[in-house]
Amino acid sequence: AHLARIEAVDEKVHAFLHVDREGALAQARAVDEKRERGEKLGPLAGVPLALKDIFTTEGVPTTVGSKILEGWIPPYDATVTQRLKAADVVILGKTNMDEFAMGSSTENSAYGPTGNPWDLTKIPGGSGGGSSAALASFQAPLAIGTDTGGSIRQPAAVTGTVGVKPTYGAVSRYGMVAFSSSLDQGGPCARTVLDAALLHEVIAGHDPLDSTSIDEPVPAVVEAARNGSVEGMRVGVVKQFRGEGYQAGVIQRFDESVALLKELGAEIVELECPSFDLALSAYYLIAPSECSSNLARFDGLRYGLRTGDDGTHSAEEVTSLTREAGFGPEVKRRIMLGTYALSSGYYDAYYGSAQKVRTLIKQDFDKAFEQVDVIVSPTTPTTAFAIGERADDPMAMYLADLCTIPTNLAGNAAMSLPCGLAPEDNLPVGLQIIAPVMKDDRLYKVGAAVE
Ligand code: GLN
Repeated sequence: AHLARIEAVDEKVHAFLHVDREGALAQARAVDEKRERGEKLGPLAGVPLALKDIFTTEGVPTTVGSKILEGWIPPYDATVTQRLKAADVVILGKTNMDEFAMGSSTENSAYGPTGNPWDLTKIPGGSGGGSSAALASFQAPLAIGTDTGGSIRQPAAVTGTVGVKPTYGAVSRYGMVAFSSSLDQGGPCARTVLDAALLHEVIAGHDPLDSTSIDEPVPAVVEAARNGSVEGMRVGVVKQFRGEGYQAGVIQRFDESVALLKELGAEIVELECPSFDLALSAYYLIAPSECSSNLARFDGLRYGLRTGDDGTHSAEEVTSLTREAGFGPEVKRRIMLGTYALSSGYYDAYYGSAQKVRTLIKQDFDKAFEQVDVIVSPTTPTTAFAIGERADDPMAMYLADLCTIPTNLAGNAAMSLPCGLAPEDNLPVGLQIIAPVMKDDRLYKVGAAVE
């Protein structure tokens, strides 16, 4: 049924870069056979899922939305892919994304943009716009995203779906193509809080193949999602998460959510987190710095595209020509920014200062969580903007992640879930819930109470 739905609508939505029809049917058949043999089935047996094209899939193309990996067929599965298969999930295909997960609209994909199913002239968020659009257009009930600065939560917010960035280190990064390794985190996307929790438990947990993976039990997120409540909880509202640049309808729905939390028995605490104002600037030094280092491996020799290999060019020239042809403008911008910020003489002023700001942000969160159990905010300052509207203005594009970035810098957990439509444009608004490190269960407890 989901493959038929994809066939019917994805020409318009363009959520998928690759539909693995044969693979999906084979996985589904394998589940049926297991059932017939009376074998024990995985926890999500037979449930179809859309996988962001940043996770390697053995034998199935993985492009990361880039021309530089066009035609590359990974010889191995990411840990997330392996765990999905072990849970008997049916992987429908790979979803569209901004090239190397750099963007907030999916317009930076080398394979063309994705439409927002609520209004196809609007962006579905990014970088994981393909995954969120697949959910919102009922092409898949579950999806996987990755969140470096907001790429799970912002797409969830603008498509009226649920997206969770787990605590950094909770979901393995093995086989997840690296953008900014100290920030990147995979996580679940779904249409309900409980569905997200069921998927969270399948993909999370320690992995010896990822040196930053946390070796602790996964928080009981499914139990929390089944027992939604905010009774007696202290919920923080941060002053820095409103003001200039926020759409009136977004603030209106957010204020209503705060009123609902209060009505359901939460105590609302006003907080100040002054360093949050610096988060965006720090992020746009740290993320490009790490990206410039991570993307050095795309040298035209090891994977995917190779340009100029005609016997007339040196190996160095082949690398240059391949990178020139294979990377899009935003990726090149980030590599240049990062290389500059890391260069000798500038390192302390840029990268070093950004790391200090990162510590200040973490301290703001630590102080806040001495007073409250969770923090809430709008997920994004505005609803979905038009395709093309911010394409030539990187600064305007970067502002889409104003509320999501502090969490990535500090490493704690956050969720976005729908909280109504903005009255001025009838487009979805996201409510963000933020919890301390490894208290991901609180996101689900609160999310299920207000859903
Ligand atoms: N939009 C942010 C960026 O462009 C975040 C992307 C992400 O989380 N992958 O870097």
